[in-house]
Amino acid sequence: AKAQGRGAWCFYAEEMTQAARERLTLESRLRRALQQGQLVLHYQPQIDIATGRIVGAEALVRWLDPDEGLISPARFIPLAEVSGLIEPLGAWVLAEACRQGQAWRAAGLPEITLAVNVSPRQLRQSDLPAAVAQALAQSGFSAAQLELEITESALAENHEHALRILHELRALGVQLAIDDFGTGYSSLVQLKRYPIQVLKIDQGFVRDIPHNKDDMAISAAIVAMGHSMGLRVLAEGVETAEQLEFLRAQGCDRYQGYLRSRPVPAAEFEDLLRAEAPH
Ligand code: C2E
Ligand code: CA
Ligand code: CA
Ligand code: CA
Repeated sequence: AKAQGRGAWCFYAEEMTQAARERLTLESRLRRALQQGQLVLHYQPQIDIATGRIVGAEALVRWLDPDEGLISPARFIPLAEVSGLIEPLGAWVLAEACRQGQAWRAAGLPEITLAVNVSPRQLRQSDLPAAVAQALAQSGFSAAQLELEITESALAENHEHALRILHELRALGVQLAIDDFGTGYSSLVQLKRYPIQVLKIDQGFVRDIPHNKDDMAISAAIVAMGHSMGLRVLAEGVETAEQLEFLRAQGCDRYQGYLRSRPVPAAEFEDLLRAEAPH
């Protein structure tokens, strides 16, 4: 039994080493990708439900690997988060989104808000407001058109620190959204204290509309609660006309989802935006 135990341990250790090695390889490849400009932002339209018009976009990062092709953020964002790479990566995302937003403004395209994801680790840094101010100053993009998405769970992690950072960000004039709302554990008391403008209903609650009555009740409650607090509510992951109709009936303000468009490269998003402009 002892020998078997030891063998099992060796096997386990070997597996660990291999997983650690793979992680390291991926990490150094990602570091290089960042330096060599192999990251790109795709943009997913955010639609005003009442008018059907594009009023914003969420910037979502992709890794364009010369060998593997497009790598999903689900594969590298968690790694970037634990390795600390998320800080330079997040700074690049902010700078690139602001640069692109300003280029669209300069081209006379309809004014939209650009939403950028902020990771828990970025929120923990005290210099996040300075980094945002720098991205705005360097690009000339307007603070009021920049929206920062922070997950509900990141806010709960270190509540007092997070609250201070949110106030500093808000003082810059940017808009603040709680991402994946409904999956964390903010109390209503906490929610009331956040200087936020937007709640994003997590796509997990939207997915099974109109079949899951609990999810429908939760989505409706988030819209009502958000409105009672003076917030705008956006539903994510809207894939069907039925889902959109249900959300419209609840008075939900905006949506994002495959029903209208997947996240697309900047040039393609620009075409969508151009088609919106009055002819
Ligand atoms: P998220 O912030 O919740 O972004 C929404 C995700 O839902 C995106 O996945 C988007 O492509 C996907 N999505 C949009 N509409 C639909 C739909 O109708 N149906 C379904 N099934 N999915 C939809 P994506 O682009 O793969 O990003 C995954 C996650 O990676 C994001 O989740 C976010 O947590 C993270 N991420 C992406 N870009 C960044 C970034 O620049 N910085 C940070 N910190 N995280 C990022
Ligand atoms: Ca997001
Ligand atoms: Ca989300
Ligand atoms: Ca998510």
